[in-house]
Amino acid sequence: REVQLATLNQLPAETQDGKHILLGANIEVPEETDAVIAHGADGIGLFRSEFLFMQPGGVSDEEQQYEAYTRVVKSVEGKPVTIRTLDVGGDKAIPGFEQHSEKNPILGWRAVRFCFSRTDLFKIQLRAILRASVHGDLRIMFPMISGVEEVDRALELLEEARSECREKGQPFNEDIPVGIMIEVPSAALTSDILARKVDFFSIGTNDLIQYTIAVDRGNERVAYLYEPFHPGVLRLIKMVIDNAHSAGIPVNMCGEMAGDPIATVILLGMGLDVFSMSSFSIPEVKQIIRSTSMMEAEELVGEIMEMKSYREIDEHVRGWMNAGY
Ligand code: PEP
Ligand code: MG
Repeated sequence: REVQLATLNQLPAETQDGKHILLGANIEVPEETDAVIAHGADGIGLFRSEFLFMQPGGVSDEEQQYEAYTRVVKSVEGKPVTIRTLDVGGDKAIPGFEQHSEKNPILGWRAVRFCFSRTDLFKIQLRAILRASVHGDLRIMFPMISGVEEVDRALELLEEARSECREKGQPFNEDIPVGIMIEVPSAALTSDILARKVDFFSIGTNDLIQYTIAVDRGNERVAYLYEPFHPGVLRLIKMVIDNAHSAGIPVNMCGEMAGDPIATVILLGMGLDVFSMSSFSIPEVKQIIRSTSMMEAEELVGEIMEMKSYREIDEHVRGWMNAGY
């Protein structure tokens, strides 16, 4: 197996008919970059930055953040690294942070909503990312965007952070790519508008499924409803990819669905550009991509988009996979 993995790492995630797909890794702490390289990732598609806010001494300051981002981007040999800005609140409570009790934390003060009311913390992070951008291919991504006003506000604060760096004579990449997570149904439904504002999208299926089907992703009693192949979810994903491509921007997916081997051919057929997942899932997904053609993947998508229930879709896809592998 070791030998197999080593060989596979040298091979691109390319379909039978020559479409090159990028496979990114998701990480939560800088120490994970060894696994990223070992599993042949093309970069880091999602660097969850919440760990910076869980340090024993409290929130990391600008220098500590700058060092952490620099360390990560330097350790991946020039490959792209997408840093997601702070996504606290909701299911991600931060110890020591003023957690006021909310009736519906999942629908409450979280991610960019939190950052817009704590712009002091937000801008420390933005400046640290900007400064680290001179050391490699860094990208910025904003989580939990629900509409165009939030994109505008995030871009405005990023512009302020840029000015502050300039004033202090700190260099940064002027062309750093800026993207947003599409994980709220209203963002997916207005993705044609949002696509004109940013350089890339990243679909967060963990939250997108939760909000689309109205099912708490952490609640065992309703887990049976949490279904990536729900036709409502699939329509949203396809809409996001189509709208992004019409606007000429690429789409990443960084939710669990991107690393689920049953979903690989469907996402391929919908035209997803980058699949970002736990490093350990990369070899299997790569193998599936390498043994599939875009033509057959698109045909399969055409078939399942006509279907009425997730059960029907799931059975069809599994049958298709079993017949071909
Ligand atoms: C998601 O929502 O799919 C996602 C990648 O982010 P998180 O799981 O951190 O909310
Ligand atoms: Mg999310």
